[in-house]
This record gives sequence, structure tokens and C-alpha cells, in this order.
Amino acid sequence: MSQINLAGIGVTSQRTRDRLVQRLVDQGISNIHVLETMSKTARHIFLDEAFTHLAYEDKSLPIGYGQTLSQPYIVARMTELLLAAGPLKRVLEVGTGSGYQTAILAQLVDSVFSVERIKPLQDKARERLRLLKMRNVQYKHADGGFGWPYKGPYDGIISTAAPADVPAELIEQLAEGGRLVIPVGDETSQDLVLIEKTEQGLKRQIIEPAFFVPFKSGTIK
Ligand code: SAH
Repeated sequence: MSQINLAGIGVTSQRTRDRLVQRLVDQGISNIHVLETMSKTARHIFLDEAFTHLAYEDKSLPIGYGQTLSQPYIVARMTELLLAAGPLKRVLEVGTGSGYQTAILAQLVDSVFSVERIKPLQDKARERLRLLKMRNVQYKHADGGFGWPYKGPYDGIISTAAPADVPAELIEQLAEGGRLVIPVGDETSQDLVLIEKTEQGLKRQIIEPAFFVPFKSGTIK
């Protein structure tokens, strides 16, 4: 971890990141804050060295324990959906994973509360964000199916793992006017879903097909 190269050379350089951002624009990502943040955030430091050379491809990549770092397009898309109604103060993230999505969020909202069920993944992510001096993130090793009630309510909730149904606890912990972005389905078919909590009740919208690892219960030490 001490050998992290934050600036990067060759495949990890700013020019490579600019190409990635151009691809995101071509794919329809338009929130300038999201694009700028993705442009300045190194993705290679969230991967093991064996995958560094693939860090700026638009691909999901293995991070160990059968989990994956999400594809840049979907990170951008989910972040854009979360931010679409204006700036956010408190965001709950379920599935810290590598910490890449966490790092993007940390630069765009006031506070991030990130829950992960696999402790070694979260420990690594925490160390990466500490090196990046991102101090507005709090972490919890727990089953995110219960959310993090004590820190809520949240004006944004994002899950980077797909449950069969949206956990009621997550909806409960959403503030009025809050937005929940979550993939829903099984390993053969999933949709990215946006749920908004309005005065009139819940508004649910299917955005597009998604391909996420499953949302699992319990924790791993
Ligand atoms: N956002 C991550 C994606 C990691 S993959 C990244 O950018 O790297 C999804 C993550 O969700 C995995 O790390 C997995 O362990 C975690 N996860 C799955 N079910 C969970 C649950 N119930 N509670 C918390 N984390 C969960």
C-alpha cells in the first residue's frame, strides 16, 4: 500500500483518464461534476497490481473475495442519478468494495457512510481513502441490508450489490426528498432502479439493465 503511485504514468496517467471521461460523455453521462471527479480520481490505486493496466478500460474488475470494482460507466451513471435533484449532505453506500465509488462520492457530497460485509475489503478501502486524504467518510463492517439507522436519515442511498427486492430498511432510512439508487434482481437479470421518497409517497423508476454481484446477508471477518 505504501507503494501507491498517485500521479501515475503510462496507462495510469491523466491522459488515459481523459480518454475514459470522453467515453463516459459518449455514453450519455452529462453531469459536469461527476465527469470532473472521475477525471481527477485515479482508479488504478483501487486495484491489485495485476489489474492496474486495465484500470481505465470501461470494465468491471476483480477485487478479491469474488467481488468486483464496478465499471466506470455504471459508477458515473449511479452517481449522476443520485445527484440529479441537487447537492447531497448525507449519503449511505452499501458495498464499500474497493472504495472507488466511495472516493467519487466523497468528493461530491458532504458525508459518506459506507457499509461493507467483507472486512478485509473494507480495511483496504479505508486505507486507500486515508492516503487520498478523504476524511468525510465513515465506515461500518456490517450487513448493509439493515442500513445504518443510527446515522440516518440519508438524502441519498446507493447500493453496489443487487438484492432480489429492495430492503425495507433502506427505504425507511431515506429522508423525505431522498433518492435511492440500487440494482435489483438475480444473477440472470437485474435492473438499475431509482426510488424517490416524495410527500406523495414512493416513486419507483427502472433506469436500465444492470450487472452487479449479489447482495448477501451476514458478514465475513
Ligand atoms: N462499489 C464497489 C463495488 C464492490 S462490489 C467498488 O467500487 O469497488 C459490491 C460490494 O457489495 C462487495 O464488496 C460486497 O461484499 C458488498 N456487499 C454485498 N452484499 C452486502 C451487504 N448486504 N452489506 C454490505 N455489503 C455488501
